[in-house]
This record gives sequence, C-alpha cells and structure tokens, in this order.
Amino acid sequence: MEADREAQEAASVDLRRDGAAALEWAASYLERVGDFPVLAQVKPGDVRARLPASAPERGEPFADVLRDLDDVLLPGVTHWQSPRFFAYFANTASDPGILAELLVATLNNVGFLWRTSPALHELEEVAMSWLGQLLALPSGWHGHIEDTASTSTIAALAAAREARPDARAVLCSEQAHSSVDKAARLLGLELRKVPTDDEFRLRPELLALDDACAVVATVGTTSSAAVDPVPAIADACERARVWLHVDAAYAGSAWACEDHRWSAEGVERADSLVVNPHKWLFTPMDCSAFWCSRPDDLRNAFSLVPEYLRVAEEVVSLSEYGPALGRRFRALKLWAVMRCYGAEGIRSRIREAVRLAGLFADWVDAEPGWELVSRSFSLVCFRREASDEENEALLNRVNETGEIFISHTRLAGRYVLRLAVGNERTTEEDVRLAWEVLQRCAVA
Ligand SMILES: *Cc1c(COP(=O)(O)O)cnc(C)c1O
Repeated sequence: MEADREAQEAASVDLRRDGAAALEWAASYLERVGDFPVLAQVKPGDVRARLPASAPERGEPFADVLRDLDDVLLPGVTHWQSPRFFAYFANTASDPGILAELLVATLNNVGFLWRTSPALHELEEVAMSWLGQLLALPSGWHGHIEDTASTSTIAALAAAREARPDARAVLCSEQAHSSVDKAARLLGLELRKVPTDDEFRLRPELLALDDACAVVATVGTTSSAAVDPVPAIADACERARVWLHVDAAYAGSAWACEDHRWSAEGVERADSLVVNPHKWLFTPMDCSAFWCSRPDDLRNAFSLVPEYLRVAEEVVSLSEYGPALGRRFRALKLWAVMRCYGAEGIRSRIREAVRLAGLFADWVDAEPGWELVSRSFSLVCFRREASDEENEALLNRVNETGEIFISHTRLAGRYVLRLAVGNERTTEEDVRLAWEVLQRCAVA
C-alpha cells in the first residue's frame, strides 16, 4: 500500500505549476509557429526512433513531456497553425477554442444521456442553433456535433438507408469527397459517381434515382471548391423521394457572410447537412456540425436503449442520433469561439481569407507561364504551363523549402496545385511570400 502511494506520488503533476508551463508553451509556440518549416522535414520512422520503446516504469515530471515536445516531437510536426500553411483546407485552432478544449478535458463529460451532462446536451443544442442562425439555415432542424464530416455523412446515409430499405444506391458527383465512398462501403450501399460539367459541378440531368436511397451534393468540393447545383438536385430528390445530404464541410462556413449565401441556395430543402467548424470556423479539431430535417429517421437508424441506459426523464439523448455512445463536450469550444469572436469577428476572418485567395489568383492569372485553373471561396487551383511531371516536381521543391506548404489534386485529368487560405494568422505578406517561393522554385 505504502509503495503504491509512493508510486502515485512520483507520477504526480501539479496542475497549477505545470499547467502554467503548458500554457506558456502554447502561447510561445503560437508566437513562433511561423518560424518553423511548415511541412515536417523528417523521414518515416525518424520520430519513433527517438522515443523509448516502452513506457517508463517510474513516473516522470511533466516538464520532461514539454522538453521532449520541443526536442523530439516538434521537428516531426507539420505546422497546421502556421500562417503559411496553404495545403488541403487550412484551418485554425483559435485562442478561445484552445482554452475551451482544455476545459473540455477538465470536465471530461461523457454525454451519452441527458443526465450524464445536462449542460453538454443543452449547450450543444444552443450552440447548433446559434451556428444555424449564423449560417442562415432554416430553424427547427435537429442539430448535433459529430467528430468529423466522415462520421456525419455515415449518420446521414444510415438514416437514408433506414428510410428507404428497398433502395441501395447512393449517388454523388465524381468530385465528391472520399468519405462518401467510405460511408457507402461501411453501410453496404452501392455508390454511383455522376459526371460533372466543365466547372466540376454535378450534372443533375444525369441523376438516375430509381433504386437510390440518397444523393450527396457537395457545396465546396475538396479538389476545387466547386458548388453542385443543389436546387436542381433537390428537385430530382423530391420527385424520386430520395434523401438529399449536403456536404459543405469546408465551404458551409462561408455562409456566415451574405456574399457567399448564393451557394446555400437549395440547402434549405436538404434532409441533412454537414459543415465542419474545425475546418473554417476557428474551432480546434474535432468539431463537425450535423443537421437533419428528418430527425425521426435519424433516430430510427441509431436509437438503441439497453436496460442500463433507461431513464425516466422525457428528454432527448443525442447519442440516439448518431453512431457514438460516448460524446465529448465539443459544444463548449464551438460556443466559446462564437462568443469570443462574435458573428462579426467570424465574418471578417472569412472575408479576409477570401480576399487573400483572390489576390493570389489575380497574380497567377496575370503572370505568363502560369495558368489559373479555378478560384472558389478561399481556394485557388493553378499550375505551371508545363507537364504534369514538372508541376509535381515544382510542388516537391516548394514544400521542401519549408517556407510554405501547398498540396495538389487532379482536375480534368491534369495535375494542379492548390493554395487554400484559411488560417486566421495568414496575412497578405504570407500570401505574397507563397507566390515568390513558387516563382523562385519554378525557375530553379
Ligand atoms: C474535409 C472534407 C471532408 C472530410 O472531413 P473530415 O471531418 O476530415 O471527415 C468531407 N467532405 C468535404 C467536402 C471536405 O472538404
């Protein structure tokens, strides 16, 4: 017993003292995050090789964790918080989001029933209602938070399958995200890819819905942020009585701004919708906002109430509306971001990202030897007027500099480079530097 107590004390961490050091680490990291190579310049296995093969027998001080974070882990970190992270979809863990995440872990609520945390349930409903209003969505939809858009889409398609058990096909455009493929595979549904037009939008006249249970429309595709024609897709779905799920994981955040609401047209007719606040709404990973206008179908797909979860209260348990039982207190961080930034703070950050992407697109467009392929929201697709191989080599040279990090995709069979603005720290100077690095590497 004595030995057990000693062993526990050896491992003890002082939350105030070590917490202050951890917070200091966080603040100082964010001050210097722009100084690190954006893409980690390590080889596979490098990080693992510097770590012990087994956990220590004797507990070590938290200061050692912070030391190894600097010495061992940081060289292997790709800096998503860097203002010069332009790959995939750049995101931001904002200060209010970071602090709220600490509090989420502190409370460690597991919100599977209302009574396991009434505050978690009710704040989640309130935060989803606030977010719905910010994005001008219809009122009255069921809303809850999932970990990722992948899970939200699984939830949507499970409800669609439940609503139409005789129909097994899911249709989406050939530009839809791979999470739709994965969800269909998991649910035993057959995925059919519909061709797109020359702006990479689903062609609604090609939707054959006889044996379909769902269509997934994308607002802001992953490759080029194309916007599928949701009103025409909604017409087809209504005629065939097929579930319409809208994947706006990235671009949905832009609906906070009036200027971008055109891309929400028809979304009010969707059966379900996903928008990721962890993408472009300044909320740390993970936070995926999922709405459903047919909550009874969603509940039919997921509700299972074993004896040990039976309660007398007549209240909704959010775990009956999705795949997971245990639910994190994610609402706290979304709520903190909306409160501390306010609608105008969110709008101004989104507008700035779009403005910076526009500047970059204009520079590319004006420069001989370069081709602007597309520009949508805060994402620019472009390429050198050269072979695919040369563009790929250029991407590698650029990312090896560590000065910026961009990614690529393939559009109409061609290799293209993508620059996505989305981190709140990104300034015009950072975007200008990105353009300089690209031009320098293109001639090298
Ligand atoms: C990023 C993205 C996803 C996947 O999001 P996760 O939260 O990582 O699952 C799905 N669809 C679109 C359109 C996306 O941009």
